[in-house]
Amino acid sequence: MKYLFGPVPSRRLGISLGIDLVPFKTCTYDCVYCECGKTTNKTIRRKEFFPYRNLIRELNSFLKVKPKLDYITFSGSGEPTLSSIIGKIIVYLKMKYPQYKIAVLTNGSLLYREQVRKDLAQADIVIPSIDSVTLKTFKKINKPHSKLNLKKIIDGLIEFRKMFKGQLWIEIFIIKGINDSRKEILKIKELLDKLKPEKIQLNTLDRPGTEAWVKQVSKKELLKIKKMIPGSEIIAKFKDKDKYFREHSTSIDKLILSAISRRPMTIKDLNIILNIKIAELQKYIRILLDQKRIVTKKEKRGIFFEIRRQYNRKY
Ligand code: SF4
Repeated sequence: MKYLFGPVPSRRLGISLGIDLVPFKTCTYDCVYCECGKTTNKTIRRKEFFPYRNLIRELNSFLKVKPKLDYITFSGSGEPTLSSIIGKIIVYLKMKYPQYKIAVLTNGSLLYREQVRKDLAQADIVIPSIDSVTLKTFKKINKPHSKLNLKKIIDGLIEFRKMFKGQLWIEIFIIKGINDSRKEILKIKELLDKLKPEKIQLNTLDRPGTEAWVKQVSKKELLKIKKMIPGSEIIAKFKDKDKYFREHSTSIDKLILSAISRRPMTIKDLNIILNIKIAELQKYIRILLDQKRIVTKKEKRGIFFEIRRQYNRKY
């Protein structure tokens, strides 16, 4: 499959079929915690990166057997709202496959545009991220495109909330010493009070991000922040991750383990060697990390994955 990945077990959305509408690391931001590495195409120009016809053909060929899915999710390794055909695809899916719920993972930076708001209006869940509402911190964490304006982004989110009938979940990524202060959190809370999202999810680093200086906040610190934002939740790992993994494991995890048992590799190396989409690899790598079967190490060329020593002989 060229544009679809999975279905993969997702932390928040159960069994999710992913759709990647933009090329690798085509994004409006270059977040310091991004698991996919540095943004290689920072842009705010929307376009049809992949032909609509091809995407629909791939979707139809996958969905015709009525697979069991919790969600069809627009995500991947870039910002999905940069695709000018996201709205058309959501409408098509809703008409042809009404049994499936649609989720969109977005950084929310383009919601100031009316057309983007209209495009996402048909989704069941939209999950924008908000890491800071103070300009200096926003720039430090998200490294936005130079033409983006924080006030406009915030106004766009508020406008979207007013017209969106589905569920709005907000994700906040907390970085130690950057956006974890009382002042930062209270400012985010002010915005959340206006947005009234159905869910507020607190996240932090659980494996190396793009920048080495990015530090995780402890569970204790996250719990403190949770108290400051009533109704928020710390994004939990899989409830029974081993059972989940057994049920949904495919040969992909074995391919990854076998490849990195020979030498440590980056996600890009695995993508080239195994010819598996990065977004799909990410999900399996996350599970293998959760299971402590593999570990990471940061080198000049990026983040490398290798087998944890006690498992080494098995692959
Ligand atoms: S918005 Fe998402 S894809 Fe873009 S740089 Fe940030 S984390 Fe990566």
